[in-house]
Amino acid sequence: MADLALRTVDGWAVWCDAEDEAWVRDLDIAERAELKVPRDVRRTIAKLIEERTLIIVGGAHDDKNGAFVRVQRAFVETGKGAQREVDEYLLNEEAALHVLMLLRTPRAIEVRRQVVHVFMLVRRGRLTGQSAADALFQRLGDLLERHEETSARLTEGFLDVKAEVAEVRVELTELRSAVDQVRAALPKRRKPTESAKSELVRTTRELGGNCPCCRRARMFGDDDAPTRFAEFDHHRSVDNPSIDAMWWICKPCHNALTSGSTKRNDVEIQFGAFHAARTALPGAQGDLFGGKGGKKNGGGQHG
Ligand SMILES: [Zn+2]
Repeated sequence: MADLALRTVDGWAVWCDAEDEAWVRDLDIAERAELKVPRDVRRTIAKLIEERTLIIVGGAHDDKNGAFVRVQRAFVETGKGAQREVDEYLLNEEAALHVLMLLRTPRAIEVRRQVVHVFMLVRRGRLTGQSAADALFQRLGDLLERHEETSARLTEGFLDVKAEVAEVRVELTELRSAVDQVRAALPKRRKPTESAKSELVRTTRELGGNCPCCRRARMFGDDDAPTRFAEFDHHRSVDNPSIDAMWWICKPCHNALTSGSTKRNDVEIQFGAFHAARTALPGAQGDLFGGKGGKKNGGGQHG
């Protein structure tokens, strides 16, 4: 899927290719249509391909009109830790509608309406521009919800325990692959150097010794040693460990920023004030390599 950009449109994960054609995923359709075993949708798709209702795309294709499918490999667990490669399908609008016509669930009609709406939004260019990671987190949430439902049925003593356990295993495999996708989509975390860390601690002390974020929590103990209840925070982006992109803050502030309960934008003033005061101190480092007066925006990386 290297050539596909993942976007979110009206809550749907939509992949867009170089020709700006949009695709939705087989399991997303099946789950939204509340197919009892969502991956069974792949059998339906395979049948439609066999009878040439759906056409597999191999790279570029001239004809924009038609029910097209992109095939990619995915892994499922077959039990006892063994893995099997299966085909996973991305469908264009027409293909998605063909598939939904064959899913005889009460929800299928409503999902057909949704698909038409989503693709209309795509054509109008109203993509929300949500990051790939956001869309994947949403997918993770959906999978977890499904997993919890299955687990609940199991604890209620559902009769076909074997089938339910098999379903749980599949869900866990999908969860794991979704987590891997999220990980791959996130920028790589880069640790600050020891010298950047000690510089942040030193300047925090010189600026009064309070957390530069909440400005209340004490960052040093009675013995004047740095408190353990503090963290180095990548304020700009996890892949930017330069000193002017980071700060040393109390754990409650760090937790609130990491969980998102405090928005980064809301502490932008505190962050700016800390670094303005820091660089005004005698002997301050501009950044790690540039020294005083080095570039101030960490090379333009943003998280
Ligand atoms: Zn704080």
